[in-house]
Amino acid sequence: MSGSRLMRAIRVGEFGAPSVLRLCPEVPVPQPGRGQMLIRVYACGVNPVETYIRSGTYARKPTLPYTPGTDVAGVVETVGEGVVAVKAGDRVFTTATESGGYAEFTVAAEDSVHKLPDALDFTQGAAIGIPYFTAYRALIHKAHSKAGEAVLIHGASGGVGVAACQLSRALGLRVFGTAGTPEGMNLVVKNGAHMAFNHREEGYTDKIMKATDGRGVDVILEMLSNVNLSKDLQMLAYGGRVMVIGSRGPIEINPRDTMAKESSIMGVVLFFATPEEKKECAALLYAGMEAGWLRPVVGSKYQLDKAAQAHHDIIESPGAAGKIVLTM
Ligand code: NAP
Repeated sequence: MSGSRLMRAIRVGEFGAPSVLRLCPEVPVPQPGRGQMLIRVYACGVNPVETYIRSGTYARKPTLPYTPGTDVAGVVETVGEGVVAVKAGDRVFTTATESGGYAEFTVAAEDSVHKLPDALDFTQGAAIGIPYFTAYRALIHKAHSKAGEAVLIHGASGGVGVAACQLSRALGLRVFGTAGTPEGMNLVVKNGAHMAFNHREEGYTDKIMKATDGRGVDVILEMLSNVNLSKDLQMLAYGGRVMVIGSRGPIEINPRDTMAKESSIMGVVLFFATPEEKKECAALLYAGMEAGWLRPVVGSKYQLDKAAQAHHDIIESPGAAGKIVLTM
């Protein structure tokens, strides 16, 4: 702990409803160890997984009390011994933190910290981590998508979906995306989809099939598998692959549907990415930021003391329009 230096941070003292996210005004500022740095946080992305962990229903449970948050953007305050890639004063974003990102300061390890180009503001920087790295893992490392293939991003208006639209388009895929509102559909098209469909509209899967001349899509990035997996199997082309990115419960499928197309269903979990895979992904994403096709879309912004509201809204409010972020 660094003497008397204190900060505001969200602390979770027990698992439960969003109200367990408490703003504490006097939390000691953490100190970076070897290979780590202290970052002054300006914004932190809110990801659905943080709500599952907070509720206590997720497989991985942190030791209580803890501060949630992996995707911060801010400025390096001090660096620990051995850090070479960044220095105090650098603008950065993270893909993981040691002490939690819903706070005015956080400690992160050097291999989880990336420079944030000037063209992106801090709220955009906080929208990169989990969403873009997951989209890349699903599209490239798991689905082995190739230019010219057709991808359906099933749930394209949220954090991962917008990232997947931009990435798929840059990689030369034919991109179809879904959203639950007209605004969401506009956003999806603005961010790289060739066509958007409304996943709340009766018969929208027929429209998707029509858009592929009945052939189906090669890859589906699925954000709500417990609702869509069965119909996904009907929308695949021969050899198609469904990437299970999000699921909030069980679903019944007919395994014979996979035989009809020799198709595959694969789970995707960013947590399992190797350091080499993360490095490769970071390099491509950085190229996207430089070239200008990677432009995170920030939807709702909440002040740090409204973290509980942000957790409520990301799960309960339909009509995603980009990434939800907390600002300090
Ligand atoms: P988000 O920003 O809250 O977006 C949720 C998306 O799901 C929105 O586009 C929403 O569209 C869409 N959706 C709602 N109902 C749908 C339906 N019936 N069919 C298809 N899509 C539907 O969340 P996110 O950050 O993008 O994450 C999406 C999911 O992936 C979450 O379940 C999250 O936990 C999971 N995830 C997994 C990993 C991993 O490593 N496996 C990593 C990141 C995220 P509308 O609101 O417009 O209806």
